[in-house]
Amino acid sequence: MTFKLTYGTMSNPPQELHDKFELALEDVKQQLGQEYPMIINGEKRFAEGKHQAYSPIDTRMHLATFQKGTAKDADDAVAAAKAAFPQWSAMNWEERVYLVRKFADCISARIFEIGAAISLEVGKNRMEALGDAAEVADLIRWGADMMEQNNGYKRPMGSDPLVGMSSTNESVLKPYGVWVVISPFNFPAALAGGPVGTALVAGNTVVLKPASDCSWTATLLVDCAQEAGIPAGVLNLVTGSGSTLGSALTANQDVAGVTFTGSLEVGMGIYRQFANRKYPHPVILELGGKNPTIISKNADLDLAAEGVMRSAFGLQGQKCSATSRVYIEKPVYEAFVSKLVANTNAIKIGDPTLRENWFGPVINRKAYGDYASYVADLAQAGKILTGGKHLTEGAFENGYYCAPTVVEGVPLDHPLWKTEMFLPIVMVTPVDDLNQAMELANDVDYGLTAGFMGSPEESEWFFDHIEAGTVYANRPQGTTTGAWPGFQPFGGWKGSGSAGKNGGGHYYVPLYMHEQSRTRVKRA
Ligand code: NDP
Repeated sequence: MTFKLTYGTMSNPPQELHDKFELALEDVKQQLGQEYPMIINGEKRFAEGKHQAYSPIDTRMHLATFQKGTAKDADDAVAAAKAAFPQWSAMNWEERVYLVRKFADCISARIFEIGAAISLEVGKNRMEALGDAAEVADLIRWGADMMEQNNGYKRPMGSDPLVGMSSTNESVLKPYGVWVVISPFNFPAALAGGPVGTALVAGNTVVLKPASDCSWTATLLVDCAQEAGIPAGVLNLVTGSGSTLGSALTANQDVAGVTFTGSLEVGMGIYRQFANRKYPHPVILELGGKNPTIISKNADLDLAAEGVMRSAFGLQGQKCSATSRVYIEKPVYEAFVSKLVANTNAIKIGDPTLRENWFGPVINRKAYGDYASYVADLAQAGKILTGGKHLTEGAFENGYYCAPTVVEGVPLDHPLWKTEMFLPIVMVTPVDDLNQAMELANDVDYGLTAGFMGSPEESEWFFDHIEAGTVYANRPQGTTTGAWPGFQPFGGWKGSGSAGKNGGGHYYVPLYMHEQSRTRVKRA
């Protein structure tokens, strides 16, 4: 297929893509109800406790049975990764690049199967699901490309002027050891496999713990790694609850580093836990967002309303990059908001595996309940312009469907202006000018993504003043969402992330390595 799928290009895919997705979906549905093991040292591991996974699209659909791994399973997985480290890290980096690229190729070859599973597991529409599967392969390849472009991160340094001697100096980046990857539910492929592939290509061995709601996608990824010939013990998969299995992993003193993608609260817990170790260890945190879009009076309002709608409601508002607050210059407030409401009302809601539907269910019962309580708060504080209710009739009866919601008139000191809701709810407000918009936009603990719609000159001003790691100007495909590896390195500032270097960017792979400066001296 010649079509390059990214979140930006997904609105107009060729027919072939739909045909292949539909075939894969039928196939995947034939496999429902199976039991999947964890994978430790290349072997299947079953636990006494089981987790039954159901689809948020229709909670009567039993997807699969997964293992509720214990602290002992966590420790065994770390021990397996530790035992595999000497050989994997001693391998030529070129060989690791080869194997990791094969891993990405296996994912690409199974993209429709993985995409169909993601759609059923998370409730993503088919393009979002395929995007996630395509993104993970590209993230893994990006890591391999960076390794190659940087010659395995070996660089000659200057020679110091020693009298009667010659000195050869070199900088070498080397892997740390056992790396734990803990991933969230909303991008079960990209945010599990991206860090996994990067840690592996850098020479670490890995234990992956996916979100409990998304063990299926992770199982398929690890299957691809095995198919690609990643040796036993180099990549281990454990499934189960974050509070028991996850915290056993991060407590294990043989773990050299961790990549956690998820909420600020859980991430800070891990950060503090790591701070209590005997000496410092790397912790890469990719956390939540409360992403603003600013609409200037000079904006193209049609494009602005399109871009905000896509970013507020794509994946049912459950993207870390979702637009959740919109600051609009007063002269265009009414016109913008009426276009946004019209776009929102035109959203096709329903079973997201079907071609015609763009908007599916939220992930689980808890999110469904949270939506109702946020909406109740917001209805009291402001005015719901559209949405604000669960959808329960007909096709919606057995899934977690919530109407996309636009709210205005909420006082600017209301806590929900600063709280990540992670649901299809966007708050809008008029502002006096762009300075006030910028002040409000930056006045949160988060700094993940931000969007601006206005003139080119204003856009440069926006880039210079906004406090966020991934920022966009005049992007109707999504004012704050839709980063792609190699195009938009993705990461957050402040409470949105700890690394200060973005995934899918030039400085990401070195986060998984420590530097050794090598000096060799001999008589001249
Ligand atoms: P959570 O923080 O609830 O969970 C993330 C992962 O951490 C899950 O695998 C979870 O397991 C695990 N976990 C939970 N508690 C612990 C613990 N005590 N120790 C170790 N691991 C634990 O996030 P969600 O899955 O709900 O994902 C949504 C969040 O992720 C949002 O805040 C969103 O903004 C953020 N996110 C950030 C991104 C970024 O790049 N900055 C990208 C995507 C999402 P379990 O599922 O079993 O509870």
